[in-house]
Order: sequence, then C-alpha cells, then structure tokens
Amino acid sequence: LRGVVALDGPSGTGKSTVARRLAVALGAAYLDTGAMYRAVTLAVLRAGVDQEDGAAVLRCAETADLRIGTDPTSADVRLGDEDVAAEIRGPEVTGAVSAVSAVPKVRELLVATQRRIISEARGRLGGIVVEGRDIGTVVVPDAALKVYLTASAEARAARRTAQDAAAGRGATVDATLADVERRDRLDSTRAASPLRPAVDAVEVDTTDLDIDGVLAHLLDLVRD
Ligand code: C5P
Repeated sequence: LRGVVALDGPSGTGKSTVARRLAVALGAAYLDTGAMYRAVTLAVLRAGVDQEDGAAVLRCAETADLRIGTDPTSADVRLGDEDVAAEIRGPEVTGAVSAVSAVPKVRELLVATQRRIISEARGRLGGIVVEGRDIGTVVVPDAALKVYLTASAEARAARRTAQDAAAGRGATVDATLADVERRDRLDSTRAASPLRPAVDAVEVDTTDLDIDGVLAHLLDLVRD
C-alpha cells in the first residue's frame, strides 16, 4: 500500500479488527485514533478535571505524555511509561470520551499529532491504515481510499457485548445498546468534526457480514 486508507464509522462496526487485519495484509502501519482520545480521557479522569471545562481538559491533553504505536499486531498505548491499553477500554473512559473529544482544541492537538505519526509511518513503510471518526473528513482528506463502515445499532451492540465479555467485562446487550446509541448521538451532533461519512467515502454496511467478508471487500477496494 502507498498512502493512507481512512477507515471511519461508529463503534461496533468491526472497524478496529478489520483495520488491523487490513494493515497486516497490506504490510502497512496502523493508527487507532480512538485510542488517543481514550488515553487523553483517562488522563482527564485521573486529574479529576471537570470534563465540561474545556480549558482544563486541554491542559490535561497538552501535558499527558501520550505514546501510541503503529504496529497492527500489538496494542501499544502508554501515558509516559505506563501501559494503559486495557484501562482505556473500561467503562469509565468509554463513558467520558465523547465529552472530551468534543473539545475543539483537544481535537486540533490530536489531529496535529496524528498527522505527524501518519507522515512518519508513511516515510518508513509507505502506507498506513488509520481508523477513527474524522479521518476521511479532517485528518487525511486526500486519503487514497476512504471507507465508512456502518451496521445496525443492534448488530453493533451485540458485537461490543461479545468483545467486552471476551475482555472480562460484563454488560448486558441492552445496556451496551444504550451506550452505543448515546455515543453515536454525542459524536454525530457535536460542533467540532461531527461523525459523518466523507462525500467521497465508500460506505460498507457490515450488519450481515463477518470480519472475513468485510476484509475481503476492503482488499478489493484497495486493489481497484
Ligand atoms: O473508536 P473508539 O470507540 O475507541 O473511539 C472512542 C471515542 O473517541 C469515540 O466515541 C469518539 O467520541 C472519539 N473519537 C473521535 N475522533 C476519532 C476517533 C475517536 O472523536 N477520530
């Protein structure tokens, strides 16, 4: 792969799994931008800062020593030397991340960092798969391929529940569905970079596809 594949869409569409496998198949790097918003959110929670206080949240984002890897086969997210890859998936962070990522200056800061990481990875490997919510619209508007994954809210909640159970976190499908719908609403109605497909994105509905099916479809799109 030369260039960037932008993979956007709400949670529970299989985005992360597909993005990693796509990067491996293409010999490309991989960047999980959601993990960056989650790590900053963890720093905000630990600092005891009010999530609605944009200036205080921004200070946390600026001082958090966020480090993220681009190897698709490992989940490398750290604050300083501390591995936070598991903690950022927990319910506290998931509950607060939409508020933190709605702060425009936090987005500016993380988008600038993302562009640096992308440019470095491209210099090294030629290509990178980047997943998030605003990759095709804001972070890399000239991406070689933009994909927007969708799925019914029910299918997404069922997948999230299965993932959480596998990670030892138990929540019912109903509770997860409520959380998925709440986060979609917050992410798609915020003023700064709301979740929406880029005009030139290929939309792929994954409701009735398994991961292998989605991956095969994306590989076809890349090779076209
Ligand atoms: O992808 P993931 O579910 O880990 O993302 C967590 C949250 O981070 C999203 O609900 C959204 O609020 C925010 N996010 C964002 N922009 C991105 C990636 C994630 O606002 N590019």
